[in-house]
Amino acid sequence: MVTRWQTAYEQVQTAAQTHHTVPVRLLAVSKTHPAAAVHTLAQAGQHEFGENYVQEAVEKITTLSGKRYDGKALVWHFIGHIQRNKTKTIAAYFDWVHSVDSLLIAERLSRQRGEHGIATPLNVCIQLNIDDETSKSGCQPEELPELVRAISQLPNLRLRGLMIIPAKDSTSAFSRTRQLFDAVQDQHANPTDWDTLSMGMSADMTTAIAAGATIVRVGTAIFGQRPAK
Ligand SMILES: *Cc1c(COP(=O)(O)O)cnc(C)c1O
Repeated sequence: MVTRWQTAYEQVQTAAQTHHTVPVRLLAVSKTHPAAAVHTLAQAGQHEFGENYVQEAVEKITTLSGKRYDGKALVWHFIGHIQRNKTKTIAAYFDWVHSVDSLLIAERLSRQRGEHGIATPLNVCIQLNIDDETSKSGCQPEELPELVRAISQLPNLRLRGLMIIPAKDSTSAFSRTRQLFDAVQDQHANPTDWDTLSMGMSADMTTAIAAGATIVRVGTAIFGQRPAK
């Protein structure tokens, strides 16, 4: 697992140097894998982890809370579908949420982050349903300008950018997302916060980085196949 992680890490660095001036972050998607696996990777140097299922994630976060790796705490990203009744827990435990797709969810996260008394804002991305698939969450492109305007004004959130999960056969999703990302920046209340494109997974991370991804979310290439649920 650590060897696979090192390979993925090097691929990300190489692609980032080829295509970018900004650093690209590798998010290790640890869903279905135990806290012990997270701990092992953290000791090897991976600090950011992505989770899809709230209850499973909270158990791992609690198990590893207070631990420092190379002097740093772990950074937890929620990347799964958000049910309304889970926002309170998400606001308490996570540092990032990639999958915000409505103003209602964003307002709840902001209010509940405040109620928990957490001083640092929750970093959020808006999930965009870039290929208009009924099976996927995410807002529609035409909703984006208004969502950026409204969510960027919420007090306990920091709106960082966009997240997508393209359709299987989609070839242009990355570049279309990049164009939308650039087009809506002037709607943002603090445009310098708008710095994140969360796109690319195990199968397509280099393509995504070439198109401008700043965070790639990688599970299988690091941990191996997930057990069937
Ligand atoms: C599971 C998951 C990933 C990781 O996918 P792999 O193909 O295993 O790299 C990335 N993003 C989201 C939203 C996921 O649910």
